[in-house]
Amino acid sequence: MIEARWDPILEEWVLVSNVREVRPWRPSGSCPFCPGAPETGYGWRVLFLENRFPMLVPNPPSSSRAEGVFVSIPGRGRCFVVVETPRHDLDDLSDLSVEEIAEVFEGLQLLFSELSKDPGIVYALWFRNKGEEIGVSLTHPHSQVYALPFIPNRVLREMRSCWRYWESRSRCLLCDSRDAELESGERVVYRGRSFVAYVPYWAKWPFEVHVHPLRHVERLRDLGWSDLLDLATCLRKVLCGLKKLFDRPMPYVAVLHDPPLRGSYPWFHTHIEVYGMYRVSGRLKYAAGAETGGGTFTYDSTPEVAARMLRECIESRC
Ligand code: ZN
Ligand code: ZN
Ligand code: FE
Repeated sequence: MIEARWDPILEEWVLVSNVREVRPWRPSGSCPFCPGAPETGYGWRVLFLENRFPMLVPNPPSSSRAEGVFVSIPGRGRCFVVVETPRHDLDDLSDLSVEEIAEVFEGLQLLFSELSKDPGIVYALWFRNKGEEIGVSLTHPHSQVYALPFIPNRVLREMRSCWRYWESRSRCLLCDSRDAELESGERVVYRGRSFVAYVPYWAKWPFEVHVHPLRHVERLRDLGWSDLLDLATCLRKVLCGLKKLFDRPMPYVAVLHDPPLRGSYPWFHTHIEVYGMYRVSGRLKYAAGAETGGGTFTYDSTPEVAARMLRECIESRC
C-alpha cells in the first residue's frame, strides 16, 4: 500500500507506505552514496538517486477511495536522494565550496523542471535532515526531494495567507516580512548581495533561520547562476554558524518553500527555512506537548538573542 490519506479534521494529507523492498542498500556497512557503490558509479559531482525506500512511487498499487470521512489517493510521485558531493569525509553542506552548493541547487532546478512535466506531480519538496540526534544515520552529505501529488500543508498555509494579503494590499507578504526584518536589522544574521538570512520575529525553533532573495523571485528555477552562488554563500554561512555555535554540530532541518511546480504565483516567492534544534543553552529542543499536542511552539529565549549569537558566530568563525 502506498497512498495519501486525507485528514478532514486537521485538513492535511498523510503519506502511508508499507513498501519494504529487500535492497542491497548498505552491503556490509559500506556507504551507498559513495562513488563506485552499486547505484552511484563514478564521475559525478552531484547525484540524484531514486530512493529505494520510497513513500511515493510512479505507479502505486493503491486506488483512490472516497467513503464518507475515509478519503485517499494513490501515493503517486517520486522520492529522490540528493547526494551532494562524492566526498564521504565531509560532514555537512556547509563543508562544500560555494560553487559546489550552487551546483546542488542547479541540479534541483533541472529536476524540478523535469518533474513539472509530469501532470500527476503537483509539488517538489526539497529538504535536508542533519544530525544523529534527529535520526540521520547516513553521514555522507545528502538531502532529499519528495515529488508529491498535493501541496504539503505548511506550504499551503503559507500560500493561503500570502494570497489573502495580496488580495487586500496587492503586495507580497513574504517581501514585506523580509523588508521589515531588514529595516529592523535586529534579527538579520547575514546579508549577501542578493540573499538575506534572518531569524524571523515569530521564530518557533530556537535557531530558526529564513533565507530569502532580496528581490521578489517566484521560484528556484528563476534564479541565474550568480544568484545561485549568492544563495549558496548565504546558506553556507548559516549552516556554518549552526555547526560552530556550540561544541558539537547542531542538528537541523532545512526545507525549500518553492511554489507548486506549475502555475503562476506572483504573490509568493521562493525561500529556504532552517530549523536549528539546540536551545541557546546547547540542549536539544523537542517538539513536545505544547508543540506536538497543541501546535503551539514555546521559545525559551528570544529570537533576538538567538540571532545575535548566530550573527556573531558567523562573523568570527565562518
Ligand atoms: Zn559515502
Ligand atoms: Zn515576494
Ligand atoms: Fe516558508
